[in-house]
Amino acid sequence: MAKKEPVRSHVVEKAARDLLKERGVKIQDIADIVYEMQAGFSNGLSMDDCVESVDAVLEKREIQHAVLVGIELDKLAEKNQLSEPLQSIVESDEGLFGVDETIAIGSVFGYGSIAVTTFGYLDKEKTGIIKELDSKSGGHVHTFLDDLICSIAANASSRLAHRLRDREDHLDQKEIEHRDHEERMA
Ligand code: MG
Repeated sequence: MAKKEPVRSHVVEKAARDLLKERGVKIQDIADIVYEMQAGFSNGLSMDDCVESVDAVLEKREIQHAVLVGIELDKLAEKNQLSEPLQSIVESDEGLFGVDETIAIGSVFGYGSIAVTTFGYLDKEKTGIIKELDSKSGGHVHTFLDDLICSIAANASSRLAHRLRDREDHLDQKEIEHRDHEERMA
């Protein structure tokens, strides 16, 4: 068999973004969670910052791969196409089945400890769209998707926390330079 060409990055990214959309998750939905998580820590936080951060996280191959695997399994379970007993386990989102969390948390470590702790918090509290997905009934299977959203939101929150701090430091530095300059001119 001829060696297959590697899949181009932009194809993977588009597939992951399309899948999220197809499953009813908008970037804004995830940004809302990020805003909620970070608003208490920064007074200069804007919704644009949150949207930008979610977007940046979705550019990461690790996240895209997790999204592709997780949503595929949700969709197959929805169509009754998994083998038993996995079909029943995924379909019923069995409490002791931890592979959904494992796949999602696997892509959290790249964003440091804030991402890890935020993931744990969101997985437990299930705010916003995560709660909606978790409680959606009527034949929908979101066993993997809810954890993936926790992961994306946690990563975007951590990334943003570090960025905002850098921005503050930069402003402080400018302020110091400005004062020094004023003093020198006085
Ligand atoms: Mg789950």
